[in-house]
Amino acid sequence: MKDLEEFYKNYYILLKKATEKTKQIIESIVPFDKDQEKLIKKIKNARQELVELFNHPKIINYCRRCHQSGKGCCKQTSEDVNLKQQDVIYILANNLDFKLPEPDIKFLVSILDKRPACIFLSKKGCLLQENRPIICLDYYCSDGLSFVLNSLHLKEKLLENSQVINWGSLELVQTIIARHKNTKYLPKN
Ligand code: SF4
Ligand code: SF4
Repeated sequence: MKDLEEFYKNYYILLKKATEKTKQIIESIVPFDKDQEKLIKKIKNARQELVELFNHPKIINYCRRCHQSGKGCCKQTSEDVNLKQQDVIYILANNLDFKLPEPDIKFLVSILDKRPACIFLSKKGCLLQENRPIICLDYYCSDGLSFVLNSLHLKEKLLENSQVINWGSLELVQTIIARHKNTKYLPKN
């Protein structure tokens, strides 16, 4: 158990450092230009639509039952689910005051199954809420939830918004890297 606690603590420190570094980079290039602002808004709307889509009562019920049965994707992810560069850049570009939530390590240790759970899973659900990584925003398990999504005719909407957040976030990263080149944070040769 001590090892698992250490694993979570170290993992959190790494994520925190990456978030702080990204914040410095974003601070060095704001204000955004009009195209970047448009892109951030487009990603924000698509993310919001996905959050709302997964808030459908039938989907919530389905996933709740899965979690209660001891399965649940958040419980089996450990480091597969990560805040990747495009997640952190979007989150901070949208809100520079974003603070990485502190994980509930006691809870995480208490639910250890075959693999450690996602560091952002808490008793009340996901600590990141609408800021959860892209991999979580558009994820559905192919055997069960896929069927529910199809029956609600939501699959197409999910795929459309998923494309916007995936491609939009990559584009945002590229435009930010392009501007970042001229800043004092550029690594020295
Ligand atoms: S997406 Fe699938 S695996 Fe994840 S909680 Fe829902 S039903 Fe369970
Ligand atoms: S970030 Fe949130 S939604 Fe994604 S796996 Fe972790 S707890 Fe689940």
